[in-house]
Amino acid sequence: MQGIEEVRTVLSTPKNILITSHRNPDGDAIGSSLAMCLWLEKKGHRVMVAFPSEYPAIYHWMPEIEQVQIYDVDPDPIAEFVNHVEVSIILDYNSLTRIDKLGKLLEDKNLYTILIDHHLYPDPIGDFILSDTSASSTCELVYRFIESYDRSNLNDLTIATCIYTGILTDTGSFQYSTSPALFRCVAALQEIGLDTTAIHDRIFNTMEEKNLRLLGHCLANRMEILEEYRTGIIFLNKHDFQVYDIQRGDTEGIVNYLLKLKNVHMAVFIRQQPTIIKISFRSKGDFSVEEIAKNYFNGGGHRNASGGYTKSSLAATLDLIKAILPSYKEQLIKPII
Ligand code: 5GP
Ligand code: MN
Repeated sequence: MQGIEEVRTVLSTPKNILITSHRNPDGDAIGSSLAMCLWLEKKGHRVMVAFPSEYPAIYHWMPEIEQVQIYDVDPDPIAEFVNHVEVSIILDYNSLTRIDKLGKLLEDKNLYTILIDHHLYPDPIGDFILSDTSASSTCELVYRFIESYDRSNLNDLTIATCIYTGILTDTGSFQYSTSPALFRCVAALQEIGLDTTAIHDRIFNTMEEKNLRLLGHCLANRMEILEEYRTGIIFLNKHDFQVYDIQRGDTEGIVNYLLKLKNVHMAVFIRQQPTIIKISFRSKGDFSVEEIAKNYFNGGGHRNASGGYTKSSLAATLDLIKAILPSYKEQLIKPII
């Protein structure tokens, strides 16, 4: 792995290390950050994991998660730690703009920076960069990184649990972005005794009743299918957020239901949040939602899974999406299977 020798030199003495990941951290952001943290702590480093915003409650069970600092909740411990930080590790994002004010804290520091990520178009940040857009997840890349650093370090069930969580969630339970290398990695994790069924249950089978009712509401009352453009849209307005007491993470996975329809090639899920309209895009086949997220919604991500936002109204956002569709019609109606 190119550059790993330099990393080895940097990490050869105990360091103060800050690990950051993106706003609204998902299983991959959390899993990769915790895996890296646990690994570095075993090597004698002092590590802080910081996210710009809270993580979903379904990840409360993860090892060491109680140590994670949230900038939105309390920036002070992070700001204080940054004064002593020597190494910055950027996981599952590739532009400091994705971590808002936390990014500003790091911007002017001249820190040795390690970037491990699988999103498209990385900014050239990082002294050591492991960026592979064909990888299933940042967790798979963290596995690859630790493996090339020192294979014996992977014989740790806690680290394996964190890595597996990100792989499981970012591949939609092994539906997409799979590869022989990924399955070899998972096989190695299972060989050390990982209970994959238990992890699956913890993440996917622990819903509250109100969440299943919210899903019912989305499908019954908030879903629009634009068959002509092979597009499905679900939106939630401010009122829905109140009625269903929607908390962080409660809307996770809803967008994927649209893709279950034979005639939906692109899924769009729009949420009216207090200050912005947040949008998730998903697609099947070659159709790139990344381009739409980037060009029209200040966002980005991957070809088949991207996100973005607008600062306009919910109605204007819906109108904008519908206005864009005709120019993508030819690509959208292309048969997938
Ligand atoms: P989700 O729809 O689950 O929030 O995000 C899907 C993918 O798009 C993730 O890989 C996420 O990192 C990326 N993404 C979501 N929102 C944004 C955004 O506002 N900007 C960028 N650049 N990427 C985003
Ligand atoms: Mn990821």
